[in-house]
Amino acid sequence: MAIATIDPASGLLVKEFEALSPAELDHKLERAAQAFATYRLTTLDERAALLRAAAAVLDREVESVAALMTLEMGKTYTAAKGEVAKCATVLRYYAEHGPSYLADVTGPDTSVGARRSYVTYQPLGPVLAVMPWNYPLWQAMRFAAPALMAGNVGLLKHASNVPQTALYMEQLFASAGFPADVFQTLLIGSATVETVLRDPRVAAATLTGSGPAGQSVAAIAGDVLKPTVLELGGNDPFVVMPSADLERAAAVAVTARCQNNGQSCIAAKRFIVHEAVADQFEQLFAAKLAALTVGDPMRAGTDVGPLATESGREEVEQIVADAVEHGARVLVGGTRPDGPGWFYPPTLITGITREMRLYREEVFGPVASLYRVPDAAAAISLANDSEFGLGSNIWTEDQDEQVRFVRDVQAGMVFINGMSTSYPELPFGGIKSSGFGRELSDLGMHAFMNAKTVWVGA
Ligand code: NAP
Repeated sequence: MAIATIDPASGLLVKEFEALSPAELDHKLERAAQAFATYRLTTLDERAALLRAAAAVLDREVESVAALMTLEMGKTYTAAKGEVAKCATVLRYYAEHGPSYLADVTGPDTSVGARRSYVTYQPLGPVLAVMPWNYPLWQAMRFAAPALMAGNVGLLKHASNVPQTALYMEQLFASAGFPADVFQTLLIGSATVETVLRDPRVAAATLTGSGPAGQSVAAIAGDVLKPTVLELGGNDPFVVMPSADLERAAAVAVTARCQNNGQSCIAAKRFIVHEAVADQFEQLFAAKLAALTVGDPMRAGTDVGPLATESGREEVEQIVADAVEHGARVLVGGTRPDGPGWFYPPTLITGITREMRLYREEVFGPVASLYRVPDAAAAISLANDSEFGLGSNIWTEDQDEQVRFVRDVQAGMVFINGMSTSYPELPFGGIKSSGFGRELSDLGMHAFMNAKTVWVGA
């Protein structure tokens, strides 16, 4: 895959980049190792100040960075500005809370025969981050903010279709005043990830992306015994029970499915509705989906821009065609518009059966699957009949039902009467084929730290 910016709204090539040569890559890894040797000794106050400075740079540059993301992967400019602001928030969050997450933890004394014992958290070294294009700044930042606060050094291998956003990340940390080479972008293809991961100067890796990419990185990391965090795909359920506020649930369902042009790992993808309210919910949901404006992502008022890649749109079309061939009914959308760019309309499909790809595969586009179930048990069983277990959304006012769904739904995250999203304060991640490990919160920071036990004798 070429490392290039191709505008998804027009399909036109904007700028192409050369991948790093083996010698250039080696030089960058060496510089990362050298940067770590001194950066690990900086104080928490120094690092917190640098994170705050990076947040201030983002505040100043929000418009140009947002326009760059829109150009490279087609998210609406409005959403892109929100993403930049969220990145500034996560930087400030770790600047504020990092020191307490990184403080030594006092252990027992006499019971372990010590004068005192404690756990001290130390950074591991250069961490490789393999990142996807869908939230090009946020995905990379939610790795970078805790990692840099912890004293690690970042090496970003971003998706090949967002090279300019990737280069911006490096420039951002440099202009915030971080020491040279503490955060570097590696313009490399996915085939070179193995070289980086096997390099002894690289201590750990995190990957956000598809299952096959995660399997490959996990296998190599297993071979060389390096810690990894994997944030992979999702096929999140959005369950609507009779006691739910249907109007609100339908409005949130639209956002939950169509945000980021339908290309979010935690987008609600399977709408599982109790049959007592299914007709009403279907009507509300269909009308709201049909009312969305699809078009130029830079224009104010556009709800859904183009899909990020031509192959991504073809994949969505193939999954929808397969469902229709096997008897599913398209209630809204389902056909690409004429004209340039990789647009695909908000789509609602019902009558889905187990043999369809749509039943089991993640659709990375604004396609909602609608299912009807007779009761909570059937809703839980359908929600769990998936290889994925990332987020989940449950709509019910019934307290007992809430407890039951939280207990029984197989997912890393459960949102009751709201939609899945990420907050710096809360752990983010999944189970099953959605990956392992957690990002954000204190857990995200501790993922790449050595919790060193210290025992001091009399
Ligand atoms: P992808 O093809 O897996 O790409 C993600 C990153 O992995 C890119 O940098 C890509 O590089 C690299 N990559 C691809 N194959 C690789 C391999 N075999 N070895 C090493 N690196 C490899 O994923 P995508 O299609 O861009 O993104 C969509 C997927 O990401 C969806 O499944 C979505 O659910 C998931 N996602 C998950 C989360 C989460 O937090 N759980 C968040 C966002 C997205 P190239 O671009 O050079 O191929």
